[in-house]
Amino acid sequence: MTDENFPTEMSAIIKKEKQPGLELTNWPVPRNLGPQEVLVNVKRASICGTDLHIYKWDQWSAAHMEPPLVVGHEMGGEIVAVGSDVHHLKIGDHVSVETHITCGHCMQCLTGNGHICENVKILGVHVDGTYASYVKIPALNAIPMPKNMPWEVLSIMEPFGNAVHTVFAEDISGKSVLITGAGPIGLMAIAVAKAIGAGPIITTDISEYRLDFAKKMGADLVLNPKETDVINEILTYTDGEGVEAVLEMSGAEPAIHQGFEVVQPGGHVALLGLPQNNVSLNLTDWVIFKAIRIYGITGRRMFETWFRARKLLQTNRVNLKPLITHSFKLSEFEKGFDLLMKGKAVKVTLIPED
Ligand code: NAD
Ligand code: ZN
Repeated sequence: MTDENFPTEMSAIIKKEKQPGLELTNWPVPRNLGPQEVLVNVKRASICGTDLHIYKWDQWSAAHMEPPLVVGHEMGGEIVAVGSDVHHLKIGDHVSVETHITCGHCMQCLTGNGHICENVKILGVHVDGTYASYVKIPALNAIPMPKNMPWEVLSIMEPFGNAVHTVFAEDISGKSVLITGAGPIGLMAIAVAKAIGAGPIITTDISEYRLDFAKKMGADLVLNPKETDVINEILTYTDGEGVEAVLEMSGAEPAIHQGFEVVQPGGHVALLGLPQNNVSLNLTDWVIFKAIRIYGITGRRMFETWFRARKLLQTNRVNLKPLITHSFKLSEFEKGFDLLMKGKAVKVTLIPED
C-alpha cells in the first residue's frame, strides 16, 4: 500500500469519553497495513443494538471499551489496499465483514470454533470500527461478496449471520418453529426459516410495528404477549402439540419462559437473545422430562455461516431489503440512533461522505 494515495483524515463517529453519547469527528485514515490486513473503503455501515448500548454507555460498554475509538462494526465496502501477504483478495473487491477478530492460536480457534475464540477482539468495541470512510481489518475478516449485491445488503450481513447461525442450530425444514422477538435478527430468522421450508412459523413481539414486519417476512402467525395468552394461542394453533423448535431472539425472560413452555418433547431451543439478568428455568419440567436440547448461539461460525448466508442472498432465497427502513449520511447518525431507540426503525444504514 502506498499511503500517499489516501487522504490523511476522514470523518468518523467515535466514542470519545467514558460517558453516554457519540461524536462525529475528524480521525486519521488507518495507516501501516500489516502483511495480512486490508484497507476497506466503507460504502455503507449499519447500526446494531450493540451500538445503542455503546451510545448509552451501559455496564457492558463500560466493562469492554477503552475510548477514544471509532465505533460501528457492520458494513459493506470496497477493498482499496491489501497487505503484502494477501493474495486471495484484491483492490476493487466488494466485501462484508466478520466483526470478531480471532487470535487463530487458542484451542477454540485451532479446533474450528473461532466463533468462541478466547482472545476475540470485536470491531468497533476493542479496535477502530466501521463508522468511518476507511477501516483496517484482517484479510480473513473481509468476506468477498458478489458485485451485484447492494452495499446496504452487505452492510447487514453480519447480523444476518447471527440469524442463519441460529436457524441452522438443527435441521428445522418441515418443522414447526417459534421465533420469540422480531427485532432485526428475529425478522431475518423468519425469512431464513421460510426459505428452508420450516413451518408453521410463529413469531412473538411486544411491538406491533415489528410484528407487521414479521408478517411481511413470512411468519404464519404473529402474537403480541401484551395482548394475548401466547402459550394458549400457540397450543391451539398447533393442535395442542406445541412447536418442534424455538429460536429465542428477544433476550426477554417472559419470552424465554414461553418458549420453554411450548417446545415439544424432543424438540430444541436455540438461544441467541442476551438477557440482562439471570433467568430462571424449570429444568425438571421444561428440559429434563421433555428431553429437549438447548443451544447457546454466539456470533457466526467461521466461516460456514458466511457461506450459507451468502448463498441464501445470492440465490434470492432471502430478501433483506425490506428490513432496511432508513438510511442517513454518517453526519446524520443521531437521527438513526433516535429512531432505533424509539423503536421506529428496523435496520438503519449510514453512508460515509468522504
Ligand atoms: P432487538 O433488541 O432489536 O430485538 C429484540 C426484540 O424482542 C424487539 O423487537 C423487542 O420488542 C422484542 N421483545 C422484547 N420483549 C419481548 C417479549 N416479552 N416477547 C417477545 N418479544 C419481545 O435486537 P436484535 O438486534 O434483533 O437482537 C436480538 C437479540 O439478540 C438481542 O437480545 C441481542 O442482544 C442479541 N444478540 C445476540 C448475539 C449473539 O451473538 N448471541 C448477537 C447479536 C445480538
Ligand atoms: Zn482464538
